[in-house]
Amino acid sequence: MVLSGAESSARFILTKELGRLSRWLRILGFDAEYDIGKNTSALIIEALRGNRIILTRTRRMPKPRGIRILTINEEKLQGQLAEVVRAFGLRLDAGKMFSRCIICNIALEDTEKEKVKDKVPEHVWRTQEQFVACPLCHRIYWRGSHWGNVADALEDFYPY
Ligand SMILES: [Zn+2]
Repeated sequence: MVLSGAESSARFILTKELGRLSRWLRILGFDAEYDIGKNTSALIIEALRGNRIILTRTRRMPKPRGIRILTINEEKLQGQLAEVVRAFGLRLDAGKMFSRCIICNIALEDTEKEKVKDKVPEHVWRTQEQFVACPLCHRIYWRGSHWGNVADALEDFYPY
């Protein structure tokens, strides 16, 4: 399922109503900044500076030139994801999933199994071989954790 699209490296910034969507975009490997209480002009500056597409549910959002904005209409997460995917022709790349910290939105780094021994549940340590860690918050991730759930959730709009 590794596909490359013109927008496979699209970067986003989401307004505060879209916290769940931002976490899911991160799970899928997209750089998705989440509005952290910034006002609209700060948001726009951030979008310009980072070449980010603004995703919002706010219809009052100004639309300055040079900024791409998508107003999300769907209420439910899956519909919202589908809207983003369709609007920008995004391709999902299985190799990019879980490559980014869901909380910090930064790239995860490989870490040695020995180093996480006391930081993950014992059965996880016994059954998993590969771990990645967030350099900022130090959360540990492993593929076995949610991989199945994500694949299931995506099946409805992405046939494997
Ligand atoms: Zn983190």
